[in-house]
Amino acid sequence: MKIYVDFDDCLCETGRYFCDLADKLFGSGVPYERMHSFDMDVSFSLSREQFNLMMTEGHKPEALLSLEETPGASTVLNSWLDKGYDVSVITGRPYSAMEPSREWLNRHNLVRVPIYFLNKYGDRWYAQQQSPCCLELEDYYKMPFDYAVEDSPRAFRFFSHLPNLKVLVFDRPWNRETPFPTPNYRRVPTWPEIQTLVK
Ligand SMILES: [Mg+2]
Repeated sequence: MKIYVDFDDCLCETGRYFCDLADKLFGSGVPYERMHSFDMDVSFSLSREQFNLMMTEGHKPEALLSLEETPGASTVLNSWLDKGYDVSVITGRPYSAMEPSREWLNRHNLVRVPIYFLNKYGDRWYAQQQSPCCLELEDYYKMPFDYAVEDSPRAFRFFSHLPNLKVLVFDRPWNRETPFPTPNYRRVPTWPEIQTLVK
């Protein structure tokens, strides 16, 4: 069994963190449940300069290390590893976030899980980070997966080459309006439910 797991808003509560950060920095006043777009400049009505500042602040090591774990994530991933499943964290974070990202996993009892940095969102702030991307697209496309756990509709395009892949879409406010590309997609609200579906 080979499983793709996204990092932000699957393993940890990044969206909730950025809600608080946008309010602290700019008084946006948008609650988490009203984050209707994955594009946070849209959800929080930010200018490009405000968005860039928020992203830079939110990707500082102390910010990344402070992210709350999504309940059950570590328990479920470790149960899969104990069964011999092949679990890979495939994140769209910039490679510059590698060290705190690895440290966060280690601190949350996920030291056995490898992390790969894939340029999922290269058209925006991420493209300006000028960091090498650890996982090239051509290498990613050689990785077979049976299941994927992902919250971002903008990452769905990375699954279209695997017709039998089962995609478990972690329920978040910004993915509720997006139609699923195939019947292999299923919305799931919690890690315990994901655990019951992966077998
Ligand atoms: Mg995510």
